Amino acid sequence: MTKCPKCNVEVPKASKDWNYGVFHVELYKCSCGNQFRNYFHEGKLRFILSAHNKSLPVGRPRKKGT
Ligand SMILES: [Zn+2]
Repeated sequence: MTKCPKCNVEVPKASKDWNYGVFHVELYKCSCGNQFRNYFHEGKLRFILSAHNKSLPVGRPRKKGT
């Protein structure tokens, strides 16, 4: 269980989790529409990437060119 960094609501379950290098990553989707990832290393939460502050880019495909 973790809290959404945008709205502070508890999100009970990760929608997805995987290993990324030395990190264990958990993807959460909050009911507010925000998505965020928790990065764990050696069992401790090290950092969070969240869509609401643009640290996690989601749903915004980059356009080619200018
Ligand atoms: Zn939220």
